[in-house]
This record gives sequence, C-alpha cells and structure tokens, in this order.
Amino acid sequence: TTNEAVNFIEAIINKDNEEGTYGKRVHTRFPPEPNGYLHIGHAKSICLNFGLGVTYGGKTNLRFDDTNPVKEDVEYVQSIEEDVKWLGFQWDKEPYYASDYFDKLYDYACVLIKKGKAYVDDQTPEQIKANRGDFATPGTDSPYRNRSVEENLRLFEEMKAGKYKDGEKVLRAKIDMASPNIVMRDPVLYRILHTEHHRTGNKWCIYPMYDYAHPVSDAIERITHSICTLEFEVHRPLYNWVLEDWDDTEKPQQIEFARLNITNMVMSKRKLRQLVELKLVSGWDDPRMPTISGLRRRGYTPAAIRDFCQRIGVAKADSIVDVALLEFCIREDLKMKAPRQMVVLDPVKVVITNYPEGQQEMLTLENNPENEAMGSREVSFSREIYIERADFMEEPVKKFFRLAPGKEVRLKGAYIIKCEDVVKDADGVITEIHCTYDPESRSGSGCQRKVKGTLHWVDAATAVDMEVRLYDYLLTKSDDETPDKDFLKQINPNSLTICQAKGEQAFAATKPEDHFQFLRQGYFVTDKDSTENHIVMNRIVGLRDSWAK
Ligand code: ATP
Ligand code: MG
Ligand code: MG
Repeated sequence: TTNEAVNFIEAIINKDNEEGTYGKRVHTRFPPEPNGYLHIGHAKSICLNFGLGVTYGGKTNLRFDDTNPVKEDVEYVQSIEEDVKWLGFQWDKEPYYASDYFDKLYDYACVLIKKGKAYVDDQTPEQIKANRGDFATPGTDSPYRNRSVEENLRLFEEMKAGKYKDGEKVLRAKIDMASPNIVMRDPVLYRILHTEHHRTGNKWCIYPMYDYAHPVSDAIERITHSICTLEFEVHRPLYNWVLEDWDDTEKPQQIEFARLNITNMVMSKRKLRQLVELKLVSGWDDPRMPTISGLRRRGYTPAAIRDFCQRIGVAKADSIVDVALLEFCIREDLKMKAPRQMVVLDPVKVVITNYPEGQQEMLTLENNPENEAMGSREVSFSREIYIERADFMEEPVKKFFRLAPGKEVRLKGAYIIKCEDVVKDADGVITEIHCTYDPESRSGSGCQRKVKGTLHWVDAATAVDMEVRLYDYLLTKSDDETPDKDFLKQINPNSLTICQAKGEQAFAATKPEDHFQFLRQGYFVTDKDSTENHIVMNRIVGLRDSWAK
C-alpha cells in the first residue's frame, strides 16, 4: 500500500499501525446474517474485509451473525461459505458463530447489570417505542428504570430460565433517555423469543440484539477494525458504550463505509427473498439475480467481481454505480480467455446450390483473434448452413450490408455467398434462402475480393441444438435512485427470452460454467441445467461496451 493511493480505511489502519494501537495487528471480519443468499453488495464487503487481511498480512474471520433465530437457516450458512470461497477468499480457522457466544454475551450482560448499566424493563414493546421520543422530543424514563441490581439480576435470570412470555420483559441499557442520538435512549439489549435456533436449539429463549451482540462478538474475537455500512454510523457511540467495561486494552473500532448500490438492481436480502417467494425468478441463483450465486450462474467470474469491487473503491458517501461498470469488468476478464464460437440464435437455412451435395470440408478458425495462444479449431462446412434470420432482408433498408437478394456477404472463415432466391411457406415466412458461393473466395486462400458484410454461420450437417437464454435487467432503471422503493412495480416483464439456437459441433461437449464469446453476439456461459442431450446457455452480457472511462 505504499505506492498506491490508500483509501480512508487503509489510512486509519496505517495510523493505528504507526501508533501501535493494536501492536500492528490487523484483524477484520465479515459478519453475514444467515437469513438469505449473499449479493454483490456483500461481495464489496467481502473484498474489502478479506482484502485488508491479505494486504496487511492480518486475519479475517467469517462470522455468522446468527442472533435472530426467526429468519435464519443452515441452507444460508452453506451458501455463504460457498460464495466466500468461490470469490477466492479464505477465512481464518473455522467459521465463527455469534450464537457460540451466547454464554459469554449473557455473562457480560450480567456485568453491565452489576455496574448499574442495564435494567429489566416490563413495558410492552409499544410502550417502549412510544416513550422513546423523537428527534425533537426527549424520551421518557421507564418506571422500571431504577430497579436494584439484585432485582435486575434475578429478573434477567428468570427471563433466561423461560419464566416469561415473548415481549413480557426486555433487558435495556441504561444510558440517556434524553440523548440527541435516539440510538442511545436506553436501547434494548435482550429480548425474549421462545423460538428454536438453528444451532442452539431450545437452549435459549432470550436473544441478544445486534447492537449488543456485534461489538461483544468483535471483542471476543479480538477484531481490530470492524467495518460496516454507513447506516450504522449513528450506532457507533453505542458500539463503544457496550465495550466500555470489556476487559481488554485493545478494543475493536467500528468504521463505516458507503454500501454498494447498482442501477437496475435491488440489494437487500429481504427484497431478494420476495422475488424468490413470489416466483418472479427461478430461485436465489436465478441468473438475473444480483446474488453471488446468481451472478456465478449468469457467467460472472470471481476475478471480474473482485475487479469490480476494486474499481468502485471505498468511500464514505453513498452513491449508485452504473451496472455498465460490472458488465465492463466481465468483458475485460473474458476478452482474452473465452473461446470464440459461432452460434445462430434465430436460425434460417441457407442452401448453397452450387456446392456439391454430400460434400463436407473443414475450415480453420481462430479461437480468439485477441489471444493467439488460444490456437484454432476446425469447423465443418457443407451445402446447407444456418444464418441469423435478422442477417437477411428481402427488401434491404439503406446501409444494410448483410444478405439480401442479389447481394453478397462473406461467411466468417469460409466463402463469399450471393443470394439468388428465397423460399417461403404458405404464411409468407422465409424457410430457405438459396445462394451460390464463389469457390475462389475461401478465407485464407489469398482471395482479394472484398464484400462489406461478414456473417457468422453454422453448418447444418453438424449443428448442435441448444437452448439459449437471453437476459435483460430484472428491474427497469430509475433515473435518480436505485429501484428500491416499490421495486415490484419496476419488474421488467421481458427479462428473459429463450432461443432455440444452432451452435458449432464443439458445443456437444460443453459443461456448466464453460465460458464463450459467441461471434457478434456477446459472452455466454453454459448453464447448470445443461445436459448432454439438452444444452442450455446463458447470455452473460452483450458485446457492446457502453462503459467509457
Ligand atoms: P441486507 O439488507 O441485504 O440483508 P445486511 O447488511 O442486513 O444486508 P448482513 O448479512 O448483515 O446483511 O451483511 C453482512 C455484511 O455485509 C455487513 O457488514 C454489511 O454491512 C455488508 N453489506 C451488506 N450489504 C452491503 C452493500 N450493499 N454494500 C456493502 N456492504 C454490504
Ligand atoms: Mg444485517
Ligand atoms: Mg438485512
């Protein structure tokens, strides 16, 4: 980090290292709540936290923030571990669980009670809310605020023992009901929830709140820099308050950064769950989802996502990143790696009438003109081929340099053909285009003849049928904000188009997660639904690069 510009978090760490705040230790954590699948916003946090661990030769913990038993599930734990590993990161030791600290959290709450810093409140949740006041009005002290330490300890223990029903009592911090920061108005530390937890079962019926569990979990793990998103900035005084009595000279510090927002995307597990539950997508890993598993299935690579997170940087002010930047990153990554292939998405047959029936020849095409090392392949050519229906116009408009009656085009890596005739069915739909070819015009034969258009094509004799799924944004774009509010109204009804395409012979052997560039079409990946008998491909992104930088 000496040569590159440092971001504001690195500047804080550098200063801590100079001053020896943590004796040069750098220990970060990524603390997801296992209540859904991770999304690209989490990827930013993962790259940041794990990246700092790597940069400073420190450590990064993966900690499941599983203190709310109602919404959490093991399915999510597994997907989160998979996603972090897939992104290319490794956590220190085993994954940690906040629920493993339930005993320690309970004991420390007793310490706070003994210090007169926490009390059991019998007010209903509604009363607590009503007595909190607002930014203009100070709150009202609870009538239970001045209970003795002994009574508080006894009641808290009874809460733990299951003596009370949900909502009957809470443990609250005793801070200041008149604080200008509403977060500091005696926040709830523990609530009663008679709910089974996915790890601790029925052992507990009281569960700690995030604002209490989080700093203590950080302190237990001896985290140095606890990085979270901007909305927790007002919670920072509470974070520090909670740890005032924690017995360690090196206390973690909370640092906030701006969360990632991307145009045309919602970035909230709650909203993503809605999309899944309403069956607006096929699942959490639907290729249109901004989840890490969705992006992976869509064909995004870990390198592209890491590059994206690097480019957006870390800032302290909220902003919205154009989805075009993410698309730019995957093109950048695949440009040199993905083999080029010819696939006709909307095929129409071309019969080359002067090409001998039954004859087949092999032509050599480069696998990637931008990367010679990728070599070349043999592609078969014969009398009948497919081209895109859109590459032919019976009555061509101006500047249409593709195929039209009497016009010539070059078939990529093959010959120049000329359209002589069309065959239509009873409805007037073109079923065949009849052409002649110029046997002297073979690519690479030194032919000097130039034509304006070059088309991709597939030999009908060896073509592989494939289902190609073309995606558009799941949500339509809103001009000045992320499509968060009323996002269900912004669902794009045309976010998926399915084509019955024809591909080169080589596709017969494709496996899920193989990446390609389809000539003139974009980048594609083989979907997990793909089998030997039914090839399924996803369009990752088109070729056009609208991202100028
Ligand atoms: P969501 O609202 O989507 O459920 P969350 O913040 O509640 O997100 P957590 O599982 O608690 O989800 O998040 C784990 C970590 O990821 C947190 O440190 C959080 O700050 C970070 N994170 C979540 N969303 C984003 C985002 N859009 N940009 C950057 N970091 C994020
Ligand atoms: Mg959260
Ligand atoms: Mg959340």
